[in-house]
Amino acid sequence: MLRWKDVITYAKYGNPEPPRRVALSEAEWAARLPPERFRVLRQHATEPPYRNAYCRAYEPGRYACAGCDTVLFGAEEKYHAISGWPSFRQPSARNVIAYFFDESFHMQRIEARCNVCGGHLGHVFPDGPAPGGLRYCMNSASLLKQE
Ligand SMILES: [Zn+2]
Repeated sequence: MLRWKDVITYAKYGNPEPPRRVALSEAEWAARLPPERFRVLRQHATEPPYRNAYCRAYEPGRYACAGCDTVLFGAEEKYHAISGWPSFRQPSARNVIAYFFDESFHMQRIEARCNVCGGHLGHVFPDGPAPGGLRYCMNSASLLKQE
């Protein structure tokens, strides 16, 4: 189980080796992704709370990266965090998400990116439910729900 100290260690000293790598130019991403997904994944936009696809979705299945189809979360890890964005306790594997310090907007946060394609997913916070205590606060536009 991943804990906050692991997240900080990855952000500080480097992320785990990804299962594979997808590297495209920004022009190739722009051609491949719908504009809303491009803005979030490649330009680090944040979608509005509650007005996003998976905020209130609790059907079983898996959530993959919308950029490269890597499975990031199982639906059983999704929980209601009252934040307005889809929230998860744990990723489906340790090496599918990368962590970076983000000091934009005068805040100290940990940014979560897809470890395979580098797409921006959202942020991770240490106020999630026990036992892991993590809250992966994700943009719906970064994710693609699979059966
Ligand atoms: Zn990806």
